[in-house]
Amino acid sequence: MSFTLAIVGRPNVGKSTLFNRLVGKRLALVDDQPGVTRDLREGEARLGDLRFTVIDTAGLEEATDESLQGRMRKLTERAVGMADACLFLIDARAGVLPADEIFAEILRRKSAHVILAANKAEGAASDAGVLECYALGLGDPVRISAEHGEGMGDLYAALAPLVEEAEAREIEEAAPETDVDVQDDDEDTGPRVPTRAKPLQIAVVGRPNAGKSTLVNAILGEDRLLTGPEAGITRDAISVVLDWQQTPVRIFDTAGMRKKAKVQDKVEKLSVGDALRAIKFAEVVVVLLDGQAPFETQDLKIADLAEREGRAVVVAVNKWDLEEDRQEKLKALKEEFARALPQLRGAPLVTVSALTGRGLDRLHDAVMSAYAVWNRRISTARLNRWLAGMLELHPPPAPGGRRIKLRYMTQVKTRPPGFVVMASNPEKLPESYRRYLVNGLREDFDMPGTPIRLTFRAQG
Ligand code: GDP
Ligand code: GDP
Repeated sequence: MSFTLAIVGRPNVGKSTLFNRLVGKRLALVDDQPGVTRDLREGEARLGDLRFTVIDTAGLEEATDESLQGRMRKLTERAVGMADACLFLIDARAGVLPADEIFAEILRRKSAHVILAANKAEGAASDAGVLECYALGLGDPVRISAEHGEGMGDLYAALAPLVEEAEAREIEEAAPETDVDVQDDDEDTGPRVPTRAKPLQIAVVGRPNAGKSTLVNAILGEDRLLTGPEAGITRDAISVVLDWQQTPVRIFDTAGMRKKAKVQDKVEKLSVGDALRAIKFAEVVVVLLDGQAPFETQDLKIADLAEREGRAVVVAVNKWDLEEDRQEKLKALKEEFARALPQLRGAPLVTVSALTGRGLDRLHDAVMSAYAVWNRRISTARLNRWLAGMLELHPPPAPGGRRIKLRYMTQVKTRPPGFVVMASNPEKLPESYRRYLVNGLREDFDMPGTPIRLTFRAQG
């Protein structure tokens, strides 16, 4: 998880302009259509050698409903909650306005790190406004011009220590995961439900016309529905952040990109490439199938990619509203699933109708449980008791009369769960034995559907 910076401030101070400058062509978000981007957008930012995620809260100003201020405030609070630091923009030409004070107040209460920047500060006309910024009580302002790219060095100087600090902390936190875990307590940590400020990352992938856009819009809710043929363009490579039944999630939508491709024969190619990008970004991948033509070659390819990338996978069969004999169909689907995607054995299979919204609750629950399983940690003591039982039940082979010994086992990582078994002559162990252990782990520790990594290391 990289360092995340939220750009906040009242409408028109230049948030989008700065966002586009930091993110550059990687998102190419030029959006002149008022009111189209109605939620948080994110991009991968570069500033000198710094790499971080940037969240833009712009885009609400065109909405005309009365609750604008409320929504703006809510959006800002959410962005603040997700970010490691906030960049608070003031329009130096306009000076500090009452609306700016409202944002300053939110930030003083909610954000650990605030960088104050006086934008539009090119030229002397902005001097008075820059001075006014000192009165906000948020430290010295950094003078920048998002439009002209001025002051980026000073912005770098203000940001660099925060990014470095966050990275150092991350390495520290990640360290125990990379070691062989030799703790011998008997407690599993069990499924870890996300208790973090950062949203759960979900990608919706599938063939063209499976209903990805319809599904994402259904989850987003009608008030944020993005309509019109241009919608795809503005949402190019954008993830949307929202609360999905009280769970903060970030959904990466690949459908918009495809719609940009005008040339028909580019469509296939683009969609697999996009799917891979989305999968790499995701924690949970929802593979969306068209119920009218499920498990086509491309579906299998996409599902297999998700498994190989080690993501938690949920298979959702869409357009269920068109089915007549649902019982029969579901049975057939399950059989086909088991046959076509044995590597995803036990992954949740849910039926939905993106069009009517039916089944979305089940999809939500399946996503949460897949995520929990993906985070599963099993204690070393339990694993070794389990291993002893497995060995007894079905001892490893003895090539050339010398039995392969499996001595010890431990979980070395989560997300997805990964295990190491210390063994004598592990290279002689047949693949079928590895499968025996993986399937056993899956069943005995209740880890359906998640990719399980099991490797052997030579010892004695
Ligand atoms: P947002 O609503 O905060 O996202 O603001 P925008 O990025 O849409 O910018 C609002 C207006 O300010 C646009 O017309 C920009 O071109 C202009 N603007 C942004 N940055 C600068 C700057 O550094 N200098 C000047 N003079 N104008 C700017
Ligand atoms: P995408 O290419 O995967 O983003 O697919 P779209 O969301 O654009 O949907 C493709 C077509 O399938 C559109 O005509 C949708 O109206 C239709 N569609 C999507 N979901 C459903 C559904 O649950 N039921 C039915 N009957 N049609 C759907």
